[in-house]
Amino acid sequence: MSDSTCTPVYKRILLKLSGEALMGGDAYGINRQTISEIVAEIKDVAALGVEIGVVIGGGNIFRGVAPAATGMDRATADYMGMLATVMNGLALQDAMRLAGLNSRVQSALDIEQVVEPYIRGKAIRYLEQGRIVIFAAGTGNPFFTTDTAAALRGAEIGAQIVLKATKVDGIYTADPKKDPSATRYDKISFDEAINRNLAVMDATAFALCRDQKLPINVFSIFHPGALKRVVLGEPEGTLVYC
Ligand code: UDP
Repeated sequence: MSDSTCTPVYKRILLKLSGEALMGGDAYGINRQTISEIVAEIKDVAALGVEIGVVIGGGNIFRGVAPAATGMDRATADYMGMLATVMNGLALQDAMRLAGLNSRVQSALDIEQVVEPYIRGKAIRYLEQGRIVIFAAGTGNPFFTTDTAAALRGAEIGAQIVLKATKVDGIYTADPKKDPSATRYDKISFDEAINRNLAVMDATAFALCRDQKLPINVFSIFHPGALKRVVLGEPEGTLVYC
């Protein structure tokens, strides 16, 4: 008899980890303790047999929009941001190695001496073999974000859900930092999220998920066990459904 309390509801997931999640309490960069805690959460889910693709952000190292605002060429700044995600991808892979997890990094920009290029068929084969695939360099194009890369890679690899791991534990009626009366949605439809003008992901990412009928679950990576609860179909954070 199978134990339904340990049966994942998703076979393949796309986890979007923001760069800021890797900072822990630091002001920038990668906090080793934090990254190993995140990897432990991922390991628990991998142990359930779930196939895991990860899109890693770069905001802890470099965000293109801010330098562009101070006069730097936006596309150049965005390429720097994408390169930052490659550094995070390598750090994440190394933390996975230390935890005994088998992973591969694939980059949307060609840096073949460092990581292999993104090849969809190969990524899917790795997933089928139980390896975790870390997708770095976003979409490979400036003027996009890693949220959009998460939606894109999620759709490409046939993930059943995009899990957006952030520092906040879901989607709120208003910014909880500014409005103490803000409440969290347990679930909300794509249409309602649009009507209420809620910033779940950036608009491109959100539209892609909606078009592809790819649900999104926003949750806090700092709630111990939250990732596993999401994968087991337990209420955690906010589910955006079609
Ligand atoms: N970026 C880009 N194209 C992409 C993905 C990312 O140009 O497809 C750049 C962009 O400058 C962005 C930076 O990389 O600000 C880091 O990504 P993001 O801000 O999404 O990281 P996160 O907020 O998740 O840490």
